[in-house]
Amino acid sequence: MMLKSPQNKCIVCQAPLVGRRDKRFCTDSCRSIHHQQSKKDLPPIVKSINQILKNNREIMTDLNPDGKRTLSKDSLLRKGFDFRYFTHLIQTKTGNTYYFCYDQGYIIFEDGKVLLVKQEEKTN
Ligand SMILES: [Zn+2]
Repeated sequence: MMLKSPQNKCIVCQAPLVGRRDKRFCTDSCRSIHHQQSKKDLPPIVKSINQILKNNREIMTDLNPDGKRTLSKDSLLRKGFDFRYFTHLIQTKTGNTYYFCYDQGYIIFEDGKVLLVKQEEKTN
């Protein structure tokens, strides 16, 4: 039987690790170097779309602090919202489609109004 050997060196600078067994970095600066480098490995298209999605989510979070709000499409566009990008769709029983960027979503009505919603945590 093989025992999994514990990770006992910082994966960035190889310094010996002390403390919690699940630690992977000796310091916060090694942690951030690692995260910078893993970001660098992503193709530019992935990085730029990730950035748009995060930006969309931030705009909705800012505009919708109470979890539900109706406003004009223009007010989202003025903030730099990009309607081409979203993470997933949710279709209601009545045939409406909500577009989500992570936990923040919206539905566009024919009159150009947008209803912002927040996805509830799954309880099942
Ligand atoms: Zn380190």
